[in-house]
Parts: sequence; C-alpha cells; structure tokens
Amino acid sequence: KKLVVAIDGPAGAGKSTVAKLAAKALGYIYIDTGAMYRAVAWKALQQKAPVTDALILSVVKDIDVRLSYHDGVTHVFVNGEEATDYIRTPEVSRIVSQVAALGPVREKMVELQRAMAEEGGVLMDGRDIGTHVLPQADVKIFLTASIEERAQRRYREMREKGYDVELAKLQEDIAARDKADSERAISPLVQAADAVLLDTTGLSIEQVVEKILGMCR
Ligand code: C5P
Repeated sequence: KKLVVAIDGPAGAGKSTVAKLAAKALGYIYIDTGAMYRAVAWKALQQKAPVTDALILSVVKDIDVRLSYHDGVTHVFVNGEEATDYIRTPEVSRIVSQVAALGPVREKMVELQRAMAEEGGVLMDGRDIGTHVLPQADVKIFLTASIEERAQRRYREMREKGYDVELAKLQEDIAARDKADSERAISPLVQAADAVLLDTTGLSIEQVVEKILGMCR
C-alpha cells in the first residue's frame, strides 16, 4: 500500500532534509508545504509596499502556487513565475509566520496540499499536516531537536549558500518563528496526539532517515 506520511515540527529540525531522503527511498512524492507559505510571503514582498495583513490578503486572492519536485529540489512557481531561488532568504523567513497566520492564506494552501496527497505515496512536511491537513495520514512524525542544534544546522546551511548570517541572530529568528507558529489561532504548531516524537538532537541524517523508514515498513 502507498502510504501518506506526515512530518511536522519546528523550524530547522531538518524536516525537509530527511523527508527528501525518505521519500526517495520509498519512491514517494515529497511535498514541502513551507515552500508554499514562503512563496506567498515572497509575492507579498514583491509588492514594494509595507507588508500588512491587507496586502497579504490581496496577494493571496488570485495567487496560484505550484510545486514541482525533481533532482532533490522543490521548485516553486507563483503565477507561473519560478520563485525557487528567492523563498529561503532571511527577509522571507522573517515575515512568513505573519503570512501563515492568516485564515484565507491557510485555506487556499491546505486545499492545494490535500489535492496533492489524494493518490497516496506522499511524504508531506510542515507544521499542521498531522493535525489538520492530513489527519488520516498512515504515519505521523513530529520531528524536533534542541534550539541550539537547529540554529547550528541552519547556520551551516545558510553559510554554505553564501548568506552572511550570524548564529545568535539566526537562533533568535528561529525562536521567534516557533513562538509565532505555536501561538497562532489557526492550526498552530503542535504535536498531533497520534504522532511519534522523534528528537534528532545528536542523531545523524542517516539515523533519522532509518527511523522514519522503519515507521513506514
Ligand atoms: O518549513 P519552513 O520553515 O520552510 O516553513 C516556513 C513557515 O511557513 C513556517 O515558519 C510557518 O509559519 C509556515 N508553515 C505553516 N504551515 C505549514 C508549513 C509551514 O504555517 N504546514
């Protein structure tokens, strides 16, 4: 049977890294829902106006967000325009939680996400997949790690990509995003009652992937 796998957790827990590898091993489709909220945030920044809730709502009204995953990369298209290279900047990261807190934004993204999971054989990562998007998922994992380790991992990743970031600032940004995501009124970040908690602090990528594959067998 082709399963539906939901992986949720806080920022920088390594969800996308391990989800990609597990999806590959299973021959499943990988769906990065954070990329969708980031795409909306990027589009809002493009308007060259203060990013107010009203601006975000006007942007999301006629937005079309599509994901296409190949060669290890989630390609994101916004109204036909590829935004893949622009959605992971610190600017987008700083406003994405504000964007993701708005009901109309979530309704639209969740509808697209459910449509993508219909056939099964998918591994979807995000914040509310097990609790709200796919409550019937066959496997639910809540992936986390200490805040220090998550900041370290993100720091290395951003440095490798050439971003001039500061570790302390990055840790602050991650903590602020987790707080906003956990405290929002709609579909907050929380472990589903039936999700398996997987703390990856001190574990290698391979070890985490093995654990996930074990849960899917
Ligand atoms: O996973 P990633 O860190 O790229 O997600 C970016 C942001 O998108 C999160 O901080 C959160 O505000 C939002 N998000 C969400 N629900 C999801 C996935 C992401 O609210 N399912």
